Amino acid sequence: MTAPSGPGPLAAGLRRLIEEHGPISVARFMALASAHPHHGYYAGRDPLGAAGDFVTAPEISQLFGELIGAALAQAWLDLGRLPRIVLAELGPGRGTLLADALRATRGVPGFHAAASIHLVETSPVLRQVQGRTLAGHDVTWHAEVRELPTDAPLFLVANELLDALPIRQFVRHHGRWHERLVGLDAEGGFCFQLAGLATPLAAQAEEELPDGAVLELAPAREALASELAARIAGQGGLALLIDYGSGPSLMLGDTLQAVRAHGKVDPLTSPGLVDLSSHVDFAALAAAALQAGAAVHGPVSQAALLGRLGIDLRLEQLSRRATPSQRVALESGVRRLTAPDAMGELFQAMAISTPGGPVPPGFLPEERRTR
Ligand code: SAH
Repeated sequence: MTAPSGPGPLAAGLRRLIEEHGPISVARFMALASAHPHHGYYAGRDPLGAAGDFVTAPEISQLFGELIGAALAQAWLDLGRLPRIVLAELGPGRGTLLADALRATRGVPGFHAAASIHLVETSPVLRQVQGRTLAGHDVTWHAEVRELPTDAPLFLVANELLDALPIRQFVRHHGRWHERLVGLDAEGGFCFQLAGLATPLAAQAEEELPDGAVLELAPAREALASELAARIAGQGGLALLIDYGSGPSLMLGDTLQAVRAHGKVDPLTSPGLVDLSSHVDFAALAAAALQAGAAVHGPVSQAALLGRLGIDLRLEQLSRRATPSQRVALESGVRRLTAPDAMGELFQAMAISTPGGPVPPGFLPEERRTR
């Protein structure tokens, strides 16, 4: 862990909130730390890249956005070249993924003409960066998914967005679940503590788990999956959700983490100044999306998805026209995206698609979920 970097402007407000109202949930702490309109982490900075706090797949290699673009265009072809679609990205960061996706799909007849481009982004700083990256494209920004136009099928991608949405944590204590809260210690610093009252979590109540076991629930993520699925069930389309996460049905273990300048830091010390995230429980997302009536596929590993979308072939094509140093960079990027000891296995991709429709590009028929 690198040294914490001081409390920052949000800390004083959070401290006052806790003094006045008592300890707050981890979800509320995360929500304010990430998305406070003035002092939230994303409100005032571009956190991506070598000079920032973390690096994402589209920033590592152009092949990521290119292959996602190809997958969305293929899905559009598979659904019969719909005359109009809403092409959207949630949490687009610098806009790199979509820029690469649009460049790669220029040659797909009719695809760009059918697509109106919509970005869901809360950060004014990142909106500006996205505008520059996507110069030459007609882009509309929204603050929330529900603002996306509903008059055409939705083709959407979200990479490393879900991990930033707030989670609730529960800790096993004397055979019952108590919510983990953020309170104040004797020196006025933030500390974890348990809610006095137990929470009856129905499905997990019988589990034989030791004291101290941690369970994470993410109502905000499930609500998002449900909202996207309901739209896609009604109108058709595709949502590709990519994030680091786990397959098992129960999200056990404390995965809350804070990152600054590419290193892990204490999640409580500097709210608003560090990136807070946690692992995504894809099984919970799948259940929410199925419940809303959509088809669900995966999750599959990022390595499997990119492999099936043809990353090796694309690397070969690009390498042929590259200088030796460009070739080295291309190969190292692909390795980082796909190697099991890099992002290949930790990152997972899940698709929400038209019920009864074709299997989305990058997924296999047997990866369609029924629960
Ligand atoms: N997808 C990009 C950026 C990932 S960083 C990439 O892969 O590089 C997370 C992104 O989600 C940022 O653009 C951030 O501003 C945005 N974001 C975080 N919380 C959000 C929320 N609640 N609604 C919409 N966007 C959000």
